[in-house]
Parts: sequence; C-alpha cells; structure tokens
Amino acid sequence: MLSSADESPGRFGKALSCMSELLELYKRIASCPDCDLCHNRTHAVPGEGPEDAEIMFIGEGPGFYEDQQARPFVGPAGRLLEELLASIGLRRNQVYITNIVKCRPPNNRDPLPVEVEACRKYLQRQIELIKPKLIVTLGRYSLVWFFPKEPISKLHGQLKAKDGLHILPMYHPAAALHAANMRQVIEEDFRAIPGALEQARRTPLTSPPEVEQAEQLSLF
Ligand code: URA
Repeated sequence: MLSSADESPGRFGKALSCMSELLELYKRIASCPDCDLCHNRTHAVPGEGPEDAEIMFIGEGPGFYEDQQARPFVGPAGRLLEELLASIGLRRNQVYITNIVKCRPPNNRDPLPVEVEACRKYLQRQIELIKPKLIVTLGRYSLVWFFPKEPISKLHGQLKAKDGLHILPMYHPAAALHAANMRQVIEEDFRAIPGALEQARRTPLTSPPEVEQAEQLSLF
C-alpha cells in the first residue's frame, strides 16, 4: 500500500521524467554513430533494470549474445552473474546492469580508449539518472573508468568512494569461466555487496559539483 506521500504527483512526476529521459537515452545509444563500433553492431546494448535501482553493475562491453539480443549479460558470463546475484538473495530484475561500451567490439576484443571515451557520456548520464547507491564494477575496464591507476588485484572487494559515488570493484564473472580458482574470489567479493549497500545507504556522499555549489553559495 502506498503512503499518501508516495502518491504525491511530485514523486510520480519525477519517476516518469527519469524513465522518459532513460528511454530517450536508449534511443540515442541505439543509433549512436560516435565510434567505429557502430559499423559492425547488430544492436547497441544500452543497459537494463529499474530506473530506481539501488545497485548498478557495470561490465566491459556486449559480447555475441548481447549484440544479438540488445540486452546486457545474457551469455555465459550473464548466467554466472545471475547465480552470483542469487547467492546474495538478488534477482537481475532488481538491479541495473550496463557496460562501459554499448556496442560489441569485434571478436570480443578489449574496447579501445577512443571507444571508451566516445561512450563515456552515456554511462555518465545513466549514473546521473538512476542515482545508484552502490556501483559494482565488473572487471578491469570498468574499474579503470573510475580509478585509472589502481590495479584490480588491490581494490577488488573493497568499498571505495569517488566523485560522490560508492563503488565496489570486482573481477569480471567471465574470469571465473576461464580460471576455476577465480570463482571463489568472486563469490567472496559478492558477499560484500549487502554490507556495502547498507553502508552506502547510511553514508550518502556529496559529489564535487554539489560541494562547489555549496562553496559558491556560501560566498553570498
Ligand atoms: N556481457 C556483457 O554485457 N558485458 C560484459 O562485460 C560481458 C558479457
């Protein structure tokens, strides 16, 4: 049952405007011509999940199955991601899932810096619109987007704060498909998610622009 505060037009209005902005963004991504990956894609893969998701998972880029279906993490790595989510009591439709690059790099090669840069604006906007309480980066490329100089071997499984965001770096689930000993590490890191989310809920961060704004306002 919704409370009267929940029924206020303001709340619904906000949710609807976020949803329509996200749909607008998805349309722009679907026809994006900004890097060479657009030439070989079957479909762009913007991302999916509730617009008010508390947790956002960010992978590297679409693979074969994702390119075919226009949905993130639907191949073997996606099945493992779903198992890992289930191990902490979550279903994939409760979280937001996206990637650093929205179009499949040929033969699943790593995305090039120029491709990551061309796509940067889309992920930035998704973060602004969804406002996740916790971002889980999956793999090195996703980690580097936030922490360009830190090795994943040092940061995985540890909650970090950056630019007003709570970020929990993890190895990519595909790592466990190639090296059996990685599965245990990833499972253990996933067990840190509920605690990290709780901590993120308790300690909202102030992003640099808000700090700047507050500093500017205090001048008057
Ligand atoms: N599928 C995705 O959508 N992203 C990855 O990084 C890997 C598989």
